[in-house]
Amino acid sequence: MMRQYELVDRVRHYNPATDEGLLDSAYVYAMKAHGSQTRASGDPYFSHPLEVAAILTDLKLDDATIVAALLHDTIEDTKATKAEIGKKFGKDIATLVEGLTKIKKLDLVSKRAAQAENLRKLLLAIADDVRVLLVKLADRLHNMRTLKFVPEEKRNRIAEETLDIYAPLAGRMGMHDMREELEDLSFRQLQPEVYRSIEQRLAALRERNAGLIKGIEAELTDELARRGIKAKVRGREKKPYSIWKKMERKAVGFEQLSDLYGFRVIVGSIADCYAAVGIVHTKWPFVPGRFKDYISTPKQNDYRSLHTTVVGPGRQRVELQVRTYDMDQVAEYGIAAHAVYKDSERSNGEILPHDSNAYAWLRRTIEMLAEGSSPEEFLEHTKLELFHDQVFCFTPNGRLIALPRKATPIDFAYAVHTDVGNSAIGCKINGQVAPLVSELQTGDEVEIIRGDAKAPPAAWDAIVITGKARAAIRRATRSAVRAQYTGLGRRMVERAFAKASLPFSDEKLQAALPRLARHTGEDLFSSVGRGEIKPEDVLRAIDPEWRGERVTGVKTPKSEGGWFGLRRASSLKFRIPEEKGKEEKPSAIPIRGINGELPVRFAPNGGAVPGDRIVGILNPGEGITIYPIHSPALKEFDDQPERWLDVRWDVEDAEPQRFPAQIAVTAMNEPGSLAQIATVIGEHGGNIDNIRMDGKTADFHRMVIDVEVFDLKHLNAIIAQLRAKKIVSGAERVNG
Ligand code: MN
Repeated sequence: MMRQYELVDRVRHYNPATDEGLLDSAYVYAMKAHGSQTRASGDPYFSHPLEVAAILTDLKLDDATIVAALLHDTIEDTKATKAEIGKKFGKDIATLVEGLTKIKKLDLVSKRAAQAENLRKLLLAIADDVRVLLVKLADRLHNMRTLKFVPEEKRNRIAEETLDIYAPLAGRMGMHDMREELEDLSFRQLQPEVYRSIEQRLAALRERNAGLIKGIEAELTDELARRGIKAKVRGREKKPYSIWKKMERKAVGFEQLSDLYGFRVIVGSIADCYAAVGIVHTKWPFVPGRFKDYISTPKQNDYRSLHTTVVGPGRQRVELQVRTYDMDQVAEYGIAAHAVYKDSERSNGEILPHDSNAYAWLRRTIEMLAEGSSPEEFLEHTKLELFHDQVFCFTPNGRLIALPRKATPIDFAYAVHTDVGNSAIGCKINGQVAPLVSELQTGDEVEIIRGDAKAPPAAWDAIVITGKARAAIRRATRSAVRAQYTGLGRRMVERAFAKASLPFSDEKLQAALPRLARHTGEDLFSSVGRGEIKPEDVLRAIDPEWRGERVTGVKTPKSEGGWFGLRRASSLKFRIPEEKGKEEKPSAIPIRGINGELPVRFAPNGGAVPGDRIVGILNPGEGITIYPIHSPALKEFDDQPERWLDVRWDVEDAEPQRFPAQIAVTAMNEPGSLAQIATVIGEHGGNIDNIRMDGKTADFHRMVIDVEVFDLKHLNAIIAQLRAKKIVSGAERVNG
């Protein structure tokens, strides 16, 4: 356990003006207050606040924050009171400790409603004084570091909460190192197997590349010095969690992750930053598209740096972050960097925490969450639970549109206005043309491109995730579907007339309406289109003597009941499925699987699994083929909108069933590699249907594996396990 003088030494190291007496008395006070209490590890309880204080000394925080850290559990867990702390340590510190006490019991992954309220309290406490968050994060970090002493059943919950709330919050506040460590510790708890395999491979790489980091550091430093720039270069290995995220995001294997090492180049001035990048680009080939200027356009959390990637010494891809010392402080400590020396003299021009972008974001969020709603309403609409599930996007005019995570530009369009949604035909995200099914990210500027369309494609219903968009699409779809049936019915009736060599006229039709129990011609056509009335019945109603041949009649086995009677009229290309009188999801056809009551097949290349957003493509006379919405194969049907069907999974209460998917795996060409891959898939419950070799070099072969899985999660888990294998350099879903 750290001694009293050690703590004071640490603080004095960065803050010579520290009040030693204050630190000393807080140390003694907290130690006495916690007395003989112990932690789950068996250590004296006091070791915990002390470690929390030590973490905050790494962030170089002011005396009040360090003292608050020492005292943070006293009001809740000991006899200490706010009044007493106020008397002994002053009002500032007492308020901090009280703030920490209020949020101590927050159990953010408890019931959703309680979670919302707790998060609201946390945000309000932070808004009062950002140092509350700094202590809270340090508290969480120490608890995560000592997670192994916590009872097994609680560990996952704590890790999830950390990954969901505290790590993003740290990132949002620009506290990069804090976020990274919180993420990594959570990841290790939640996915131990994957974590271990990444670690093992990092270790192997470390051995193979021994001295590489030092070598690149030296070469970069020398080259810059030769050109007159004094720079401090530090190389580091990425953390397993960020490697994992990248593997997930980019769908690449470990071997293809070229930038496992990042280098920071710290220089004296902004001019030197740009000069250094220029020198590096002259000396080594740079990777196009990787240069980013976060100095002229800082990130929302105040982060500033120049980023570039070059093919550096030893043909190694080297990712560089170039920045000044000040920027480096902010990059590492975020909002904490602004809180340095809060109670001592401030240097000129220093940004106060309350003026920082990160803080402004916090304020905005709180305002937005609180905007015009009572606490009940607040919880009912669970706006807060969306806090970490939410993305904030902008219109080109700068209007903020808040959407749930995974929202698409279509949701965005409907959030702006129903008319915008109904007429949307494309979009630009941050100036780039993007598909309407893209997933929006916070900070995206979205411009909706509108066309003449009055109604959205019905298939959008399965793509959007906001209620507003869905309701509008269904409304529009219902009338569009009706119009389709009507048009279809009219064509069927006209054709029947033509076949019977009878002149078709609306007057004749009008006369027959009462006999067919329909009010208008449109009603009649619509009924014919839906298959409720046969065209020949219309002829008979007009001319009871008529005895013609049946026009429709080719029936498939399921034509009588079910969702999808594939009755086919000879002249018709397709038949629209009947709407079921179910209010919810009126037009979506529920899809169970190949044994369902529909003639359903899955996309021949790539399949489809529950969890995929899907559309059906109608094959006249044959049934429906189900594709994941992102399948490139769908392009072929772009100009045949009438063949697109709105379908949804209906597997909730059904027996677990397997669904087809394809995985492409690139693996090292060595004996037993195929067996290893098959074993991974088998061990994780996947059923291999077929393996096809699909290209081969001296070192690698690529294979396409048909695999049957339960759902998307299952498929992704298998892919992740494959990527973690040493022999696998890439694994991805085909057409997924
Ligand atoms: Mn604590």
